[in-house]
Amino acid sequence: PAPTIEAATIIVATGQRPSEVVFKEIEKGPIQTIKVDPTTLHTNIEGVFAGGDVVSGPADVIAVITAGKQAAISIDRYLRGVDLKEGRPEVQEEVKDVPKEGIVRKERAVMPTLELGKRAGSFAEVEQGFDQKTAIEEAKRCLNCGVCSECLECLKVCEPGAINHGMKDEFVEVEVGSIILATGYDQFDPSVITQYGYKKYDNVLTGLEFERITCAGGPTQGRIQLKDGREPESVAIVHCVGSRDKNYHEYCSRVCCMYGLKYAELIKEFTKAEVYEFYIDMRCFGEAFEEFYQHVSEMGVNFIRGKVAKITDQAISKEERGKLVVVAEDTLLGRMIHVPVDMVILCAALQARSDTAEVASRFTIGQRADSFFLETHPKLAPVNTPTDGVFIAGCCA
Ligand SMILES: Cc1cc2nc3c(=O)[nH]c(=O)nc-3n(C[C@H](O)[C@H](O)[C@H](O)COP(=O)(O)OP(=O)(O)OC[C@H]3O[C@@H](n4cnc5c(N)ncnc54)[C@H](O)[C@@H]3O)c2cc1C
Ligand code: SF4
Ligand code: SF4
Repeated sequence: PAPTIEAATIIVATGQRPSEVVFKEIEKGPIQTIKVDPTTLHTNIEGVFAGGDVVSGPADVIAVITAGKQAAISIDRYLRGVDLKEGRPEVQEEVKDVPKEGIVRKERAVMPTLELGKRAGSFAEVEQGFDQKTAIEEAKRCLNCGVCSECLECLKVCEPGAINHGMKDEFVEVEVGSIILATGYDQFDPSVITQYGYKKYDNVLTGLEFERITCAGGPTQGRIQLKDGREPESVAIVHCVGSRDKNYHEYCSRVCCMYGLKYAELIKEFTKAEVYEFYIDMRCFGEAFEEFYQHVSEMGVNFIRGKVAKITDQAISKEERGKLVVVAEDTLLGRMIHVPVDMVILCAALQARSDTAEVASRFTIGQRADSFFLETHPKLAPVNTPTDGVFIAGCCA
């Protein structure tokens, strides 16, 4: 027989489920909760709405108040004959699979708590909270699944009213006379050249990352600075990273010599930093490019002809301590050199987009050996393709 337990108070906590006998005509789910449209809370019966625990299963008061509010909006629209869904944000979808590539598992930080002896007779918080360093470390554990939480704060700050949370992906068919493919490029990932320390050292950046730093709308409002906020005293710009290299891409990417010079000019103009450009040879072929090269040289930029062998934080002299050291062969001096700097900008190669083959086959055009789109003739028809009406332009060609 079951044991008999004597008790002064009995708390019934037996769980809840919707009654199976009421609302028989309303469509229900497997655990008898009512099925509704997640945005409008409309049931399968015209003019009947439902919300709260009877829909979601046991939840909390806030969720139920939200459901009441949403149902009220729907009922108001229903009575006025207005579309129930228009302009209302779709209910947020749960993330099914968060990409975990490259994520290192980190244990949760232990929350410091008040000693047991100090808790009695006190309203002091038992959970003491993290210090700033631990809080930042905890925040870094976030997987950034990127799901919008529908807080709608962005609507308040976007003055032109360009954000529409009700917008859906749609396919549109447009009839056109010709198509210009200008799909651009992918940036070569310099972390595959492990000796350059990209992603290992905070202040080794790609050209595009530096571009963001110099942008007034970027993370530093255009101020050229290191990860710790200091202004760099010295910067190295490394050319041909992944370009003109038998191990990666043999071709010249054609834009990086010039943007490397642009960065040198910007750094000279806005900081007091010493600038070093490590190049194989300067390719300044466009109109006024050579003159710009001359202008930057006259600003006092150091041009070092030679391929960089490695970038390291291992100091072998007092000047190198706390710096990134660029180790390169200076082919004009004919010897290896060590240049200590605070920041390194890698001029990463431009490579064909990863979807080039798919796009090429969709438009029945070809690809060159280096994977970019193939033109009909490099001189006579450089933007034409074998498919009439389909043209190629920009970096993708
Ligand atoms: C770090 C860096 C700095 C630079 N600085 C300068 C500079 O100061 N001055 C200068 O003149 N040039 C500069 N350049 C070069 C310049 O950025 C490129 O020449 C230019 O962006 C190329 O333009 P594009 O239209 O060919 O390609 P992109 O600018 O790459 O544009 C391609 C667009 O097509 C879209 N797209 C791709 N596939 C599809 C598809 N299947 N369907 C629909 N859309 C698609 C992409 O999302 C992208 O928006 C720099 C380049 C780099 C890497
Ligand atoms: S600010 Fe806008 S995009 Fe970001 S979570 Fe809130 S509603 Fe979503
Ligand atoms: S850095 Fe200059 S030489 Fe090197 S790939 Fe870029 S454009 Fe060509």
